[in-house]
Amino acid sequence: MADSLMTRSHNSQPRGYQLSILNTINSTLLLRARVVLPVSQPPIREGAVLVSGNRVVAVGRWRDLSAHRRRRTVDLGEVVLMPGLVNAHCHLDYTEMAGQLPPPKKFSDWLKLITEIKAGWDYSDYTASWLNGARMLVRTGTTSVADVEAVPELLPQVWGGTPLRVFSFLEMIGIRGHRRPAAIVQETVERIDSLKGYRGPPGLSPHAPYTTVPELLRLSAQTARRRKWRLTTHLAESAMEFEMFARGRGEMFDWLQRSGRDMSDCGLGSPAQHLERCGALSERMLVAHANYLGKWDAALLTRRKVHVVHCPRCHFYFHHDPFPLRRLAKAGVNVCLGTDSLASVYKARRQTVELNLFEEMRALARNEPALSARKIVRMATLNGALALGMGGRIGELAKGSFADLVALPFAGKIADIYDGILHHEGDVAASMIDGRWAIAPTPS
Ligand SMILES: [Zn+2]
Repeated sequence: MADSLMTRSHNSQPRGYQLSILNTINSTLLLRARVVLPVSQPPIREGAVLVSGNRVVAVGRWRDLSAHRRRRTVDLGEVVLMPGLVNAHCHLDYTEMAGQLPPPKKFSDWLKLITEIKAGWDYSDYTASWLNGARMLVRTGTTSVADVEAVPELLPQVWGGTPLRVFSFLEMIGIRGHRRPAAIVQETVERIDSLKGYRGPPGLSPHAPYTTVPELLRLSAQTARRRKWRLTTHLAESAMEFEMFARGRGEMFDWLQRSGRDMSDCGLGSPAQHLERCGALSERMLVAHANYLGKWDAALLTRRKVHVVHCPRCHFYFHHDPFPLRRLAKAGVNVCLGTDSLASVYKARRQTVELNLFEEMRALARNEPALSARKIVRMATLNGALALGMGGRIGELAKGSFADLVALPFAGKIADIYDGILHHEGDVAASMIDGRWAIAPTPS
């Protein structure tokens, strides 16, 4: 293991609380970096992070933490060491669809095309796609991902194939009457209970208001509350979804009515109000997109403590109206970032695209030039952790947090640290997840 590289011994004694921590830990690893950025705290020049098992036990200055003789040390060199990124919305199993769906004129055309592609895939396609997506995320600094699982059968196999901290949300779709919502939810709960090898708590994902019926949303929310699970859904992603619920008309309305969906839940208010009527809005809920909001929706999402996941490259791909970030932020909604899937990321000919939260951060910065790099980095770390109910455990480096951290080359000024992170391209220099190297540092 590379963590045994550059082991040093030090003779002087640490000070204060660090002494008591160090004395109680037998097997520890001390990581040194030019800059340590806890994100929840200001950057630390010549910093260090002390890891024991799968936890961070101290974050501080190298000169304070390095003064203990019995522990291994890894000098990461000219890097910023920071928490791994939290991707709050992804579909790993669609990774290999990259470039197969050109940007559509209409959102419903994309839905029809992806449904066709999915019908032609088998388990081995989904498995390869899931694992390839997971590798992309690890290489590009994500350590935790909220993943919507359309093919839960493959989870026992793929979980073991990645070091990622995966929060799997099992997808449920049901618009026609031949399967009762209670049976769909029950089957999903039984599937969750039967799975072994979770990296993060499981969750439920009723796909979207338009692909479900109110009873499915209601039962999902009740189950999530009872089981202390989280929920995620795609909310108000397209203008045609907003029109369908708010006005009871439009292309999506006509298409789904022809498909046999009971449309009596339409024409009653915005998609967000629809979720509220179904009792689905709570602090357990992560809504992806929320691109089209009614006048009072931002206030409603805040009141219910709902988390919004913005996926900037997917937003660009569909040419949606500008994302209402300022309205949501002003209302106090927790907004975090996700990659969504590569089925909805623009790919030019001969270009390779990958699941990469740095690309998402840069896409957001292009759309919101007034938004500071610091706020964007917090959206990809702290805010995602909060959304997943993991505040203090992931998305920051703090005493007691999981040892999920990444190192990026950084030789600039400390004052520019957030801009440096935002502009990082390519793979990370090192990644540790749950106290183990997912990408080991190379000796310098
Ligand atoms: Zn999605």
